[in-house]
Amino acid sequence: MHRRSILKLGGLAAAAGAFGCDEPKAEARPPRPRSSARAEIVVVGAGVAGLAAARTLVDAGKHVTVLEGRDRIGGRIWTDRSLGTPFDLGASWIHGVDDNPITKLAKKIGARTKKSSYDNLHLWDHDGARLKDSAIESIAAGWEEVAEGVAALAPGGRDISMQTGVQRAIAGEKLSIAEKRQLSWVTATLEIAAAEDFSKLSLAQNDDDGELGGGDRIFPEGYDAIPSVLASGLDVRLGHRVDRIEHGADGAQVVSSKGTFQAERVIVTVPLGVLKQKKIVFSPALPPRTEKALTHLSMGVLNKVVLVFPKTFWPTDRDFLGYMSKTHGEFAVFMNARAFSDAHALVAFTGGDTARSIEKISSKDVAAGAIGVLTRMFGTAVPPLTAHLVARWSSDPFAFGSYSHVPVGGSSQAYRDLAEPASSRLFFAGEATSHEFRGTVHGAYLSGVREAERHIP
Ligand SMILES: Cc1cc2nc3c(=O)[nH]c(=O)nc-3n(C[C@H](O)[C@H](O)[C@H](O)COP(=O)(O)OP(=O)(O)OC[C@H]3O[C@@H](n4cnc5c(N)ncnc54)[C@H](O)[C@@H]3O)c2cc1C
Repeated sequence: MHRRSILKLGGLAAAAGAFGCDEPKAEARPPRPRSSARAEIVVVGAGVAGLAAARTLVDAGKHVTVLEGRDRIGGRIWTDRSLGTPFDLGASWIHGVDDNPITKLAKKIGARTKKSSYDNLHLWDHDGARLKDSAIESIAAGWEEVAEGVAALAPGGRDISMQTGVQRAIAGEKLSIAEKRQLSWVTATLEIAAAEDFSKLSLAQNDDDGELGGGDRIFPEGYDAIPSVLASGLDVRLGHRVDRIEHGADGAQVVSSKGTFQAERVIVTVPLGVLKQKKIVFSPALPPRTEKALTHLSMGVLNKVVLVFPKTFWPTDRDFLGYMSKTHGEFAVFMNARAFSDAHALVAFTGGDTARSIEKISSKDVAAGAIGVLTRMFGTAVPPLTAHLVARWSSDPFAFGSYSHVPVGGSSQAYRDLAEPASSRLFFAGEATSHEFRGTVHGAYLSGVREAERHIP
């Protein structure tokens, strides 16, 4: 199942991003703190979009400086290696390996990838009973029927939420308590994939993106291999938070926390969340089309919780473990890290408001909640945790969320509008400028190449 195709259920546990992580290092360059040397092009943001843009431009002989607010490159690709094993707290998967530029990059640098399927899972009921595979298949089939009903609503008029769509699709059906729990679990997994609650997702506009075939693959040694190779040899200035961009007839001026940079042109690749929060002041202001587009898209939240144990106590023959809680959204999916690494680790996924809520409590309490669920699944077999990591993308000041979606009443046209230049000096790239591949690494990559090519004769 494509992560975004939330009406289809080719796979069950639609866990979206994955896990993994050490901080990718930018090329070591002597810092030039107060530099105002005029670059032909300044790229703001050293995520995949910014690095792809800079890489393409530099390879074409352009003089490019990349300004990055964090003290690492990669942005929403973030491989944490603090526990001695790579855990991706941002993106994990190449979504659809066929004709995917990330597949090509991975092959070029010899980065190992491993097949990973959402429908390769074991599923437990709320009381710890493990379901037979045939039962999982019938849950999937049940959802397919509901999804067909939702798709058939295809509102031409006023937009409705995915949740309303589901309610209308099942209106008149008499669901048993078990069936309601199954539906709640399926929607919880899809909310994780979309990084947003069904109550907030547009029914009409969230399924019109593109999808690549060939299945998904993860990077057992960390996704950071991709930003690292893109950044090689580039002039990347870490710790340079951009606060203001002036663009006019004479060129552009980029004001950062470590000095002002002059440029002929600027490519801004910061996340939608940063633009929506007006963290960068533009002068002159962004065109009305861009401002409107910012109101027609939202940032969703997907947060991963890495749980490391002294030993493996779960079945390791499947990629995912699912749990059908009585409480909607409670740790519905765990990724089995043991399926592709030596780590005795599970990675729990949370999406939408559940993901936002875990950012309000301590990591220890988040991990305890996940252990509570695992205890319902495995009883006393669950040993005390050795270590844990909790991602907090919503409160991250360089992201304000995980990836974009179309909220109820929004418009996917906004992705195209955000890709339009604001002036002859100011350009935009990033996942939220990719209508076709929104919310993905390859979408971000292709958007960076798209903007770079505007400046290559
Ligand atoms: C938890 C999670 C799981 C995901 N899973 C997957 C997955 O499995 N597969 C997949 O394809 N996609 C996945 N995604 C989405 C994918 O990671 C993103 O779409 C992609 O990495 C975005 O790249 P980008 O360059 O557009 O933005 P970013 O990577 O966010 O890069 C933007 C950069 O701008 C910097 N920045 C922000 N503000 C400023 C400022 N004021 N000044 C200077 N720099 C600034 C940021 O620090 C960042 O480095 C996931 C995302 C998350 C968060």
